[in-house]
Order: sequence, then structure tokens, then C-alpha cells
Amino acid sequence: MRYKVARMVTGMRGWQAGTVILALACGVGVRAQAPDGIPREFARTRAARISDLRYGLRFMLTPKAATVAGHEDLKFEVSGSGALWLDFREGTIASLSVNGTAAATKIENGHVELPEKALRVGENSVAIDFAAPVAAAGKAITRFEDKDDGSEYLYTLFVPMDAEMAFPCFDQPDLKGRFKLSVTAPTSWTVISNTAAGLRVGGRIGEHTTEFAETEPISTYLFAFAAGPFKKVHETAGLPGLYVRASKLAKAQSEAEEVQTVTQQGIDYLSKFFAQPFPFPKYDEVLIPGFAYGGMEHAGATFLREESVLFRTAPTHSDHLNRDILLLHELTHQWFGDLTTMRWFDDLWLKEGFAQYMAYQALDAIAPKENVWKRFYLSIKPGAYGIDATKGTTPIYQNIANLKDAKSAYGAIVYSKAPGVIKQLAFVLGEEKFRDGLRLYLKEHAYGNAEWSDLVGAFERVSGRKLQEWAAMWIRHRGMPQVDVQWSCDGAGKIDRFLLTQKDVLGEGGIWPIAMEVLLAYRDGKTDRIRADLAAERGELKEPIGKACPQFVFANDRDYAYGRFLLDERSRKTVVEQIGGIGDVFERALLWGSLWDGVREANFAPREFVEVTLRQLPGERDEEVAQSLIGHVTTGLHRYVSAEVRKQIVPGAEKTAAEQVENAEEKDFRIIWFRALRGLAESEEGRARLKELLSGKLTVPGVELRPLDRWTMVTALIALGDREAGAYLAAEQKRDSTGDGLKYAYVAQAARPDAATKKKYFDEYLHDAARPEDWIESSLGAFNYWNESELTEPYLRPALEALPQMKRERKIFFVLGWLNAFVGGQQSAGALAEMQEFLQSGAVDQDLQLKILEVMDELERTVKIRQRYP
Ligand SMILES: [Zn+2]
Repeated sequence: MRYKVARMVTGMRGWQAGTVILALACGVGVRAQAPDGIPREFARTRAARISDLRYGLRFMLTPKAATVAGHEDLKFEVSGSGALWLDFREGTIASLSVNGTAAATKIENGHVELPEKALRVGENSVAIDFAAPVAAAGKAITRFEDKDDGSEYLYTLFVPMDAEMAFPCFDQPDLKGRFKLSVTAPTSWTVISNTAAGLRVGGRIGEHTTEFAETEPISTYLFAFAAGPFKKVHETAGLPGLYVRASKLAKAQSEAEEVQTVTQQGIDYLSKFFAQPFPFPKYDEVLIPGFAYGGMEHAGATFLREESVLFRTAPTHSDHLNRDILLLHELTHQWFGDLTTMRWFDDLWLKEGFAQYMAYQALDAIAPKENVWKRFYLSIKPGAYGIDATKGTTPIYQNIANLKDAKSAYGAIVYSKAPGVIKQLAFVLGEEKFRDGLRLYLKEHAYGNAEWSDLVGAFERVSGRKLQEWAAMWIRHRGMPQVDVQWSCDGAGKIDRFLLTQKDVLGEGGIWPIAMEVLLAYRDGKTDRIRADLAAERGELKEPIGKACPQFVFANDRDYAYGRFLLDERSRKTVVEQIGGIGDVFERALLWGSLWDGVREANFAPREFVEVTLRQLPGERDEEVAQSLIGHVTTGLHRYVSAEVRKQIVPGAEKTAAEQVENAEEKDFRIIWFRALRGLAESEEGRARLKELLSGKLTVPGVELRPLDRWTMVTALIALGDREAGAYLAAEQKRDSTGDGLKYAYVAQAARPDAATKKKYFDEYLHDAARPEDWIESSLGAFNYWNESELTEPYLRPALEALPQMKRERKIFFVLGWLNAFVGGQQSAGALAEMQEFLQSGAVDQDLQLKILEVMDELERTVKIRQRYP
């Protein structure tokens, strides 16, 4: 080993002591032991010894087989001495040779040893014959069976450390390699990978081999292929390619051009903004049915969840914009993540935060009329504040001591808080300096790796500002501030006092440097805006003193700052009275958000919020604001108010929704009111409306409901215990027997309000390996339908106990989806007590404890709100 003892000790930050012994042991020539997972310091040491890495990979894909066979020729330069470990888990090795010498093929703890005596300083070559598992769920190579035409598709998904489940590799982001892939598959299959397919050559009858050009240096998690009877949706010269499975080709044709055009506009915009041309030789988007994420940014070949592009429900304008955000997010990653990659997953925010932020910035440039930053506030901020106010929150920079825990880094902190904080940073630096900092960072680390301090350093150099203290609070410290305003006016109608204060929401003593724009609002929509900086617990603002007394004030206009901004008592009263008439839609969205925060803080009655909202909603002319309000009303009714209050309010709400379904002027509003009706319908009358929609007696004028729209109504009828639910289910199964239809019927039946159903489904969740993961994931909400708490509470504890298994076996976002569904189904103090008891039992690791705390927060709020406003 190259490292001396002293260096190892200083490098021990967060690293397990057990690995030190291993490192020292190989230093003195004792046979090394395979580490558990990929510890950080193990990875650092390995990265320091290996360079010029090249993977030659050949996969033989056979339909229906439980494994794929592969051959690998690996070449790399080595420095220093000692054995090296390749990572490979769940597969088998038939032969292994290192520099021409046969070596043991034993896989220990997910690693294969390259023995010290076989390695040499300088160039090394390794040849391996191996086999890797393929399954419908739980493996790095997933099989999708298309029930519509009986065909089969295979695709890879390696992030964060599953490449090693598909082939032996150095599976860490800072060991970038050049990949040269060849795939043998049935002749009817098309294979898509990171680079363009070159030569296709025949082989055995019915098979052909596709050779791909060698990639640029990329991380293992960014290497990918997809294979099956994919079709390329029309070739438009100069636009990125779009692939779809054969059975969805006709459907994809109507969406393709928009998708390709937005993607191309994004490429043009980002190339200019980053001052870096598109970093890879080609770009394709591949639609994958049931894909575990919205998308995955493989270099040159983004995989997208088919359902995110080919809408399963009647889409609104806003749904199309959400799709564009997804396309632009994955596209941004080609620079932020793929060209320049975080060294380790503790800096996951570097790629996710910027992809999220830049997606909005790019959309703002492509579609300037869309009020994109209002969308950012409505889509991004609730998730961020939702986690950051909980005891389960973490800093943006998350300590990941071992890659096997990298899945835990994914969540609202990187996807929602990080872009929120980046927005604040862009406001602090100014747009130009912000852009120049990004350019410098990408230029200096092109095709390499970097850490957060490299980025902060780049911003410091271009702006001449010191950002270390800023970064220490926003990136290395957890939690967020609550900012309050105290103001008063004198007898002459002038402001005589204006005080801003901040407090740490979690009570952990944090003080953040905050830059914001304060709004003073007057009659007739007149406003005044004041830039304010607050870096202490309190600060008197001089600028407003002597100005005319406003009607209300709000401290985070335009949403530049990150934190909780509640309205003071006086402002809130005015806002509640006037909110429907506030003409500026961004401002209106922010004020509604602040009122809702008041509800969640248990200082504004949920009933009052719901009633005010239901009065204003029919007049709301912004689709996104209306959608967000409908969401709050539904949550308020299903969680926060008592059953009696709910029963008083629901009939009126159902009636409003049904009227709007028929009479709202714009189609998008008829669609969102249809969704509102489906979510709120509960009474006999409400259920009758759903049945009329299903039978065609009632229509949504100008809108053709899609299969999933119908299935969700069937699910609601089942969950609500409607007498005719069984008949509607049978009718729908007959009507839609497609592959999607089979999945939706499975989901709908999870909502059956009886104990036997719950038991059957829960057993399957834990033990049925053949059930596709997205079927299970989609059914969790139906299983835990809002009105079935009593039936599902017995599964709360078993669901918590199953967390380690879910973390091990499932894809990245599954654990949070699982927790949110099972905890989200509960509203009672008893369920809360059960969770607290489980936490105290210490049955799960610290990382899962944080996830539980994060999700439990909503249950704590629910209990608190219900107690405060019975
Ligand atoms: Zn991403």
C-alpha cells in the first residue's frame, strides 16, 4: 500500500476503524480481506493507485434467461504495491486472469481479489468470464415483459453502486473509465448505449452483435445499455434520438417532436450558458416502462420513465411543463454530473441540486412567459421545507462513510433544498458571477471529479467574495431559519419600526446569512420592495422607516431566500381577506404558501384555511396555484380536521368540484377539478358522480379521460367501500386488459378495505421477488388509503421492521415511498406513540432512524393540529 500510517490516521474522518486494520495488513503482505461494501478510505486508496482505466465488455443477452453471460477485458495503470479488489456481487466468475496468469475466481463479500503477486507497476490487463443476474426487480439488469405484445426488454440501472452487480469493476465515481461495449442479442432487438452503435454483425442464427464506439472517461454509474425491440421515433435531422418500446410507438409519435425540440433547445441554451459544448458524441432519450426514477442521466443516453413522457392521465399544460423540467434536469446532468462528477456521494447535491436549478433556469429561457420561478417555488420549496423542519434532516453535504449507504443521500435535501439554496446563492452573487463560477468549475474539472469546496472556490475566485462562512451554514449545517417581521406605524401613517429576526427551526442555535427581498404591499396592488441582508439573530431595517404604512408585509418576495417565512398577525388578517384579489400570481402563490405554513405550524385553524380556500378556488386563474390549493384542501380534510368537520365540508366541496368539471372555462381547469372531485368524493352523492364519469353519463367536456384517470376512480370506489365497486372493477378489467391495465387493477385492489386483502398484499411486498417493483410502489398509496387507518395501523410496525430489507433490496427512492405510504396512512396519537417506541428500540441503523424521523414529522404535526383544533 502506498499510504503510510500517519496519512491513514488523518484520513479517518467518518471511516470505520476496521478498515484501517485491513489497509495496514495488506501493507505488510498479509493476505488482504475483502471490505464490507465500499468504504470511503478504501475507495480513496484505490483511486490513488489506479489510472487510465479501460473496460472492454461483451454481454450475451438471451431472452427469458435468469443471467447474462459476459466477458471483460480490463486495462489500467497501477502504482504502489499490494493487492487490489474488483467489486462484483451476486454474479459468478468462470475464469479470471491477471496479466496472463490465472487467479482464484472466488467472490468474497462482493469483491474479487487481484492478487499482489500478479499485479505490476504500470500497465495491467485482466480478463474475466462472468455471469450476472437478471430479474424483474432487485437486480442491476432489469427485465420488463411487455404484456401488450409479449416482447421482452432488458435495461441496466447502476446508480449508486450496482454496476458491480452487472460486471466486475471498480465501482466508485472517481474511477472513471473508457467503456467499449459489444452486445449480442436477438436480431429483432435494438441495443442503445452511451455511444453510437457502430457495426452490427451476424452470429449464430437469430442473433447479432452490436459494437459501440469507446466512451469518454465516465463513472461506472453512468454506463448503461438497454436492449429489446425498441423503435426510434422518427428521425429528425439534428434532433436528439428518442427510443420507445414497439407497442408504444404510435403513442410516442404524437409526443416525440415536442420532447426532441425542448431537448435540443436545452442543449443550445446549456452549451452557451456553461460555455462548454455538449460533452459527449451523441444524445438519446430512451423511454423505459416502469423505470424506478423519473430519469437517469447516463452519459449520452438518458433513460426516462415512459410514464413521465407518455402521459397515462389526461395531461394539463402544467404536466407538459413538468415533463420539460424532467428532460432539462437529465440534460443538465450531461455537464453537471457526467462531464464533471462528484468525487463521492456525500456531494450528491453538486449534481442533483444544479440539475434541478438549471432545469428551471433553462425552461425560463426557453419559455419566458411561463413564470417558471413561481413553479419552482410551488414544486421545489414544499419538499425542502418539509424535510428541513424535521429532526430527520441532514446537511446538504451528507457524510457517506460507505457507498453501500449512498442510497440514503437521495431525497428532498439534494433535490429540493440544494436547488433552493443555489437560488439564494445566485441572488447573493448576481447572475453573471454565478454563471462565471459554474463555467470555471466545469472547465477545470472536465471529464474529472470535484468536491463542493472546488465549486465554492470557483465562486470565490470569480466574485472576489469570501463564501466559506456562507457555505459552512448552508452546506455543512443542517436545518433552516424561520424569519419573522415586527413592524409598526406611527400616528401619521408612516412606518416607525421594522425589525427582522431569525431563529433556528430545530432549536439547534443556527444563525444563517440570509439575503431577501421584503415586500411592502399597499392598496390597489401598489408595492414596494426592499433588499435586506440578515446575518445575525436580529436586524433593524432602516430603509422602510418613514415610508407609508403598508397593508401587509412579506419578507421573502420572489422567493430568493430559503427558510420559513410566516406572516405576522396583522398581515395575515389582511392577506386572508384580500388574497383572491392579489393580481401578481407569484406573490399570490407565496402568500398562500405562507398561510399553509401557518396551518402546518398549528397556528392557523385548518378549518378556516379550507373554507377560505374553497371560497377562492373557483376564481383562481393560475393552474399551478389552483392545483396546489386543491392539494392543501385535500390534505386539510383528510388529515387535519376532525371527521365531523370533514363531513360538514365535503358535500359542498364535492359540489363545487362537480360544477367546475362541467363549467370551468379552460380545459386544464376542468382536468384539475376532475382530479379534485376524484380525491375528495366521499359521500353517496360524490361517489355517484364518479360512477357517472365511469359509465359515461357525465363527461369532462373536451377532455378524453385516459385509462389511469378511470382506474384511480375505481380505486377510490373500492377504498370507500362503495357497494358497486366490485362491478366497476370487473367492468374496468374487461375494458382495459393491457399490460398497464393489469398493473392498475393490482393497485386498485390493494385499496380493498378488508383485513384479508391487506395481509395478502403485505406478504407479497416482503416475499414476492417476481412482482415488478413499480407495481408494488404504485400500490402502496392504495393499500394505505386515507380512510383505512384502522385497517392499516397493524402494518405500521411490520413496515418499519422491514426497512432494512427494503433498503438492501430496492431501488433508491423505494424506502422513502414505503415510509411515506405506511406512515402517511396514519393520523392518530396511538400510531405516533408506536413509531416513537420503535425508534427507541434501536432496531434500525442511524440512517434509517433519520428517514423515520423525517417522515414521522408529518404525523406529529397531524396529531398536534388535531389536538389544537379539535
Ligand atoms: Zn438528477
